[in-house]
Amino acid sequence: METIPRTTPVGIGRPGRLLDVRTIFHEPAVAEHARGREILDRFPEARRIAVPSHWNIPALHGNPAAEADWATIKRTTLVLGVKKDVACRPFYRSTDFVAPSHANGCTAACAYCYVARRKGSANPITTFVNIGQILDSIQRHALRQGMKLTPTQADPALWVYEIGTNNDCAVDALVSDNVRDLVDLFRRLPNAKATFATKFVNRDLLGYDPQGRTRLRFSLLPPDVSRILDVRTAAIADRVVAVDDFVAAGYEVNLNFGPVVYADGWLEGYAELFALIDDALSPRAKAQLQAEVIFLTHSERAHELNLRWHPAAEKLLWRPELQEGKTSQAGGENLRYRRDVKRGLVSEFLALLADRLPYCRVRYAF
Ligand code: SF4
Repeated sequence: METIPRTTPVGIGRPGRLLDVRTIFHEPAVAEHARGREILDRFPEARRIAVPSHWNIPALHGNPAAEADWATIKRTTLVLGVKKDVACRPFYRSTDFVAPSHANGCTAACAYCYVARRKGSANPITTFVNIGQILDSIQRHALRQGMKLTPTQADPALWVYEIGTNNDCAVDALVSDNVRDLVDLFRRLPNAKATFATKFVNRDLLGYDPQGRTRLRFSLLPPDVSRILDVRTAAIADRVVAVDDFVAAGYEVNLNFGPVVYADGWLEGYAELFALIDDALSPRAKAQLQAEVIFLTHSERAHELNLRWHPAAEKLLWRPELQEGKTSQAGGENLRYRRDVKRGLVSEFLALLADRLPYCRVRYAF
């Protein structure tokens, strides 16, 4: 398979190469918040540019000229804002609720990323500095729920809150203590746990003491496919090896098999991945293991964009003869594998998983 060179080392060992903040776009009110001042102090050399809204920065969003500098912008630019809507929202599948965002955007540039699909062009990390309001909102919402008396798909006993919908918390932790504060909050709440998916290995998180109240989901693809699609992320082997360390540090660690991409030899790729997992995980990590399986969702817009900067990815992602249109919950026009095709693919995937990792319970597959 054709690959593109990595621009960063695997994992988060040398943050300067993954995140080297030179420019900070910030809303004027950011400095009124303690978290905002902390972050500005953390990057004293960065050029500061005041903007009226974190969401509308013409130099970044919808600027086709920025696409050529996609990776550089993600490494060198940070956006700071104040989150206006701090409500928790109901959800389903991997979580009961989506917590208000403490960040969006990412330093990585995965070819299938729906965050990029929604924001277009460069989407560096935006960090929200009103973390106190965000924590208060989650706490009030969780306490209103009372104890969980009826199990859901997300968890049998605790209300689950997704804290990484449009971001990767492991990288956000390089910018501020927002993720540490959230892990602290969920450790104290009597009836809830946090969850987020990640493609990075940030060992700083090992010191956060989650006491089982944060569920981290490592996203995993077959290594050969990941080398093409997961741009600027940790290597698959590094993520797999880290599972035991995060379990030992008090995290519940699950796996996110997504996106599953159908291509020649795809099941052989998964057989290789499952062998990697089976060899690496301790009995303790295996005993708590669960997974979710999510087949690829793509879009014509992402296809057009990817062709301009990463055409090799499109050889895997763009399969119009096998894909059909689908309107997302947010109203976007997406593409997914045709129902008749996907039914068979899901069955084949689950059969292989059950054979190779029989201890891994599947929360859902679609
Ligand atoms: S790590 Fe997640 S949020 Fe970041 S680019 Fe990849 S898919 Fe998107």
